[in-house]
Amino acid sequence: MTVGATPTVNTLLPTSIVGSLPKPSWLAKPEILWAPWELEGDALVEGKQDALRSAVQEQQRRGIDIVSDGEQTRQHFVTTFIEHLDGVDFERRETVRIRNRYDASVPTVVGAVSRRAPVFVEDARFLRQQTDQPIKWALPGPMTMIDTLYDGHYKSREQLAWEFATILNEEARELEAAGVDVIQFDEPSFNVFFDEMRDWGVAALERATEGLRAETVVHICYGYGIKANTDWKATLGAEWRQYEESFPLLQRSSIDTVSLESHRSNVPIELIELLRGKRVMLGAIDVASEEIETPEEVAGTLRKALEFVDADKLVPSTNCGMAPLPRAVAYDKLSALRAGAALLREELVAG
Ligand SMILES: [Zn+2]
Repeated sequence: MTVGATPTVNTLLPTSIVGSLPKPSWLAKPEILWAPWELEGDALVEGKQDALRSAVQEQQRRGIDIVSDGEQTRQHFVTTFIEHLDGVDFERRETVRIRNRYDASVPTVVGAVSRRAPVFVEDARFLRQQTDQPIKWALPGPMTMIDTLYDGHYKSREQLAWEFATILNEEARELEAAGVDVIQFDEPSFNVFFDEMRDWGVAALERATEGLRAETVVHICYGYGIKANTDWKATLGAEWRQYEESFPLLQRSSIDTVSLESHRSNVPIELIELLRGKRVMLGAIDVASEEIETPEEVAGTLRKALEFVDADKLVPSTNCGMAPLPRAVAYDKLSALRAGAALLREELVAG
């Protein structure tokens, strides 16, 4: 794909990244998650825009078809959204367990939650101006949002999730109006809280996407390549079957696309069959390693999936966000993704 081309989402095997890309070192400290900003005031606003612009250009240069913002304007995939809401006190903090994995000091819900103003809509408008390619924007999912807070008000995870779903829906509708083609909800909690997911988690997610014409995606993964996550993965055994819980529910849901982790993971590839009929954004790039995949490796992972998903429903992607990686590594992985998808595309066209 050359720069300036305008492929549609219907390109065979359109490539896309899950979300974050490393930020430039002048904007935030590199290779750490949730790094504090290096700029402030107007310089920060301008710096974020320059970083977003550069992330778009680099995705285009590396042949990514569905372009995103690389999450250059946010510090954290959940917290940055919550910071813009009323009803949450960031000064009052409690220690809670995140996804049953690690302790974190989190803000407290002290009253009714509401969105006082759009959160990412200006940034999305800016992204829209940078490219004619299809664009994707990621939001946290309702269940993952409640898992990073202490609730001192509703005292009900379900009710709080429902409130967040309503807020997310307002934001998503405005993102769509700003020209976003694909709206993704990050729900790593779906890999942990199976009972709640079944009882109300998927319904809350559907509520968040209500009335959208944009394509909707849910991203479920085993997390960034940070130690707490890699330690957890080491306890999961030879076969990671967590998706077996969520996929049948999502297959019956109104969500269009499911984004999952695959490459170099212990997820049995045949679990994708449980999603039959949905679009599948398949992780063909490992974000927990700095080793760059070869095009053959990427194509190999994608090829295996084709037994369980129709080629016109496969979207080659990364396992998760790439924020903690060195910048050059992340970008070279984008090139590997494009090259691997291109190899397989040639095979399919040659038939
Ligand atoms: Zn992820």
